[in-house]
Amino acid sequence: MDAGFVKANSANLPKIDSLMVTQFLASNHNVFTSESRNIKTSLSQKESLGDDAVGYVQLRKEPPVCTVLGKIFYHQKDHKVTLIVNETESMVTKVQCHDCTELFICIHSLAFLMWAHRRSEETIESTQYYWRKPLNALKSSERFITVAQMTGKDKISIEENPSVFLEFIKEAKRRQLNNCLILKHCLKYREDLFQ
Ligand SMILES: [Zn+2]
Repeated sequence: MDAGFVKANSANLPKIDSLMVTQFLASNHNVFTSESRNIKTSLSQKESLGDDAVGYVQLRKEPPVCTVLGKIFYHQKDHKVTLIVNETESMVTKVQCHDCTELFICIHSLAFLMWAHRRSEETIESTQYYWRKPLNALKSSERFITVAQMTGKDKISIEENPSVFLEFIKEAKRRQLNNCLILKHCLKYREDLFQ
């Protein structure tokens, strides 16, 4: 982590609403237009440039300015991006990618801006943390772990408890349901219903 920065989470990330995004893009209209062909060409690749590309997000608050740093993993490469927000004026003042110096708004900086905007739109029930390796950067074998790997046990025994299912069947019979997908697999149910 950079000096003076803390790990970003859903509680400390600055809010970026759609108006702030629109105003920022509109104020950079000329540069955006001249480079839009490059952005479109790059986005035609199949790799995701959404949430899975973003990771290691950190931030520093120096009111009213909040500086957010993140990494975009795209095409097997890390791209460091800075987003600067004036929280008092609700204004995005700068988005910069440190690995595409020839572009003002490259796909990586645009992806980071939209990532932060999406976070602002989410309804969060518990704090989400954004200091993690981008999912795009994980090998497929690292994306999933088995229950055995997670618990360190070879076998997991789960006590069978069909009470909820039996209650569901009972209620389904009471309502005489016959168009529920799960009930199509319960032959006894069908026999009972049409007796
Ligand atoms: Zn870039």
